[in-house]
Amino acid sequence: MSHPVSPHGGKLILRLLKGEESTEAKKRARELPKIHMTSRETSDLIMIGIGAFSPLDGFMGREDWERICKDFTMANGIFWPIPITLSISGDNASRIKEGSEVALTDGESEELMGTMRIEEKYTIDKGYECKEVFRTNDPKHPGVAKVMAQGECNLAGPVRVFNELDYPDRFPDLYARPEETRAMFEERGWQTIAVLQLRNPMHRSHEYLAKIALEVSDGLFIHQLVGKLKEGDIPAEVRVRCVETVVDHYFPRERVVTKVYPMEMRYAGPREALLHAIFRQNYGASHMIIGRDHAGVGNYYGPFDAQRIFHEIPEDALGIKILPIDWTFYCYKCKAMVSSKTCPHGEKDHLLLSGTLLREMLTKGDPVPEEFSRPEILSILREYYSGPKE
Ligand SMILES: [Zn+2]
Repeated sequence: MSHPVSPHGGKLILRLLKGEESTEAKKRARELPKIHMTSRETSDLIMIGIGAFSPLDGFMGREDWERICKDFTMANGIFWPIPITLSISGDNASRIKEGSEVALTDGESEELMGTMRIEEKYTIDKGYECKEVFRTNDPKHPGVAKVMAQGECNLAGPVRVFNELDYPDRFPDLYARPEETRAMFEERGWQTIAVLQLRNPMHRSHEYLAKIALEVSDGLFIHQLVGKLKEGDIPAEVRVRCVETVVDHYFPRERVVTKVYPMEMRYAGPREALLHAIFRQNYGASHMIIGRDHAGVGNYYGPFDAQRIFHEIPEDALGIKILPIDWTFYCYKCKAMVSSKTCPHGEKDHLLLSGTLLREMLTKGDPVPEEFSRPEILSILREYYSGPKE
């Protein structure tokens, strides 16, 4: 049976080298001038390499940047919501010539990641990008802060990638590339695959979203972010353990695929929800669950802006569809998980815990209601909060 959803732009564009080709490229890269990437740029490079950002074959040029900021479209006319760019600081920029080849290294680990042929060197108005993409210029917004800290010059061109950092080793059963998840879905004969984006431990509200989706789909794909989050967020290993535990105890295993992906959060709210949809389409999902404040941070976005934006884009922009779901929580009167759409009761009957309050309860050892989170998850989180932190 063929796969129900084509990759964005028609086919997977793979820039990750294998075998001999990878060894050769790595050797050559050692001789090239080096560009040090930020963690966000490194994570984007891996996403391009494995085909998650298809149809991109490298970092974007000026015309892509401009058209995406303005009207969500690349220079080739294909829909795209957020510029994927690589920057370099002024001093370094002068020694890099258009037409030359450079090696790309991860600025944190110093590892060689890939190479790039420089097709274009250009400058941008970073404030304009932030205003369009993040809808704010507030330097306290974590995504804005990263864009404003970028170098003064952008470099564009096709990349070749030969390193995925330690993700494949850290998550041997869970790290997957789009071609692998597509093959899994095909093998299972799934025609409707609902994907749940997770960057939190799996609480009851997330479980409920997943179950609503699973009721109306052939399979559920839980896709967790293991790239960088904000300071103070729960580490990937702990979150992964939570999700695996919930699935083992409360889901029919054969109807669920759990995987991780290496992208870093930008917290761009609605625009990022669109980017999440694109790479989930590339991973083979047919539907994406969008709950409250998807990919948001603080109070920068309205709770359902990320759902609304899917109705504002051209109908044929994406192959993947969304499953918009209202705010979910436990209701003591209904004695069930509910949403604002299904429960008539007021806030006093609802169990609502903020992340901050939950963290405080877990750190102090105060009891957390089972209606908020499964006991198996609470015990993992208590262990984490009471243990030594890095
Ligand atoms: Zn109720």
